[in-house]
Amino acid sequence: MNIPAERYNSYGVFLQEKFGHRVHKIPINAGFTCPNRDGTVAQGGCTYCNIDSFTPETARVRIPIQQQVEDSIAYLRGRFKAKAFIAYFQPYSNTYAPLERLQELYEQALQHPEIIGISIGTRPDCLDDDKLDYLQQLARDYFVTLELGIESANDETLRLVNRGHDFNCTAQAFRRAANRGIYLCGHVVYGFPNENKAEMLRTTHALSELPLDFIKLHNLHVVRHTELARQFREKPFPVFDFEEWVAFVCEILRHLNPDFKIERLYGDAPQELLVAPRWCKEKSAAEVIYAIQHKLKKLEAYQGQYFGKASEIAPQAVIAKEEQYNG
Ligand code: SF4
Repeated sequence: MNIPAERYNSYGVFLQEKFGHRVHKIPINAGFTCPNRDGTVAQGGCTYCNIDSFTPETARVRIPIQQQVEDSIAYLRGRFKAKAFIAYFQPYSNTYAPLERLQELYEQALQHPEIIGISIGTRPDCLDDDKLDYLQQLARDYFVTLELGIESANDETLRLVNRGHDFNCTAQAFRRAANRGIYLCGHVVYGFPNENKAEMLRTTHALSELPLDFIKLHNLHVVRHTELARQFREKPFPVFDFEEWVAFVCEILRHLNPDFKIERLYGDAPQELLVAPRWCKEKSAAEVIYAIQHKLKKLEAYQGQYFGKASEIAPQAVIAKEEQYNG
């Protein structure tokens, strides 16, 4: 097996090889809301969700999409000499509108000649077949990615964080979206207070069976103005410290499907909103990534090393800190 220099399958390298140069993502705020907040599925949203924490400053203000695209491209072109961009429809549920409205919004971004594709973040229960048919059609001409929140494969966790859907709903949505030329990305969170490390590995095995192209691995972080922050204040629970996360994400990578390209290796949030863990803001992305790559090398570990090998599950690393994570 060919082990890449990073020791995992990197999304950045994939883009570079596919397009022959760097491709940047531009966050777009198209003004959607979310059925888990407006009462359609539930009220209040997921317990960890503060939209501002995953929406960059530049995408928070409601300005026309074309202007958001132009402003971001002008900035990135000047700073990185970038020449190809993906419009990333990020905050809230970006398929939560009638098809005609979605077409109008996405196509405003796609009009720009330097936009080569779109990435759409949404919920698995917000994907009618007519929307998938439309994305399939767009994918003939553009690089189209659909990003769904998996968060956990444990239905009890999904209930506790008020996701409003179970894991089967996510798995079905990915299966319906597969084989259409649309790239599929999953987003998973490790460290929910009710889950121990063995449980988190079970999530890794379950999501490794999904038809994904890309995956974002996030450690749980607590951000202000959320139900999770209230719970954390009332009864603090452990969150991954830096060294723990570096070691744990290496373990996750070993069990993960080797074909998935890794788009993120940790989560972060704006300084002013982050409650814990603080290292997510204090360390630079380069520091975190270097530490993970260094650890993988030291352990002679690589993505997919234990994939499909049930007997390799539960080495000491899984058991370590089990008590702590059991609360
Ligand atoms: S589905 Fe997404 S936008 Fe909606 S409440 Fe949950 S995290 Fe927030």
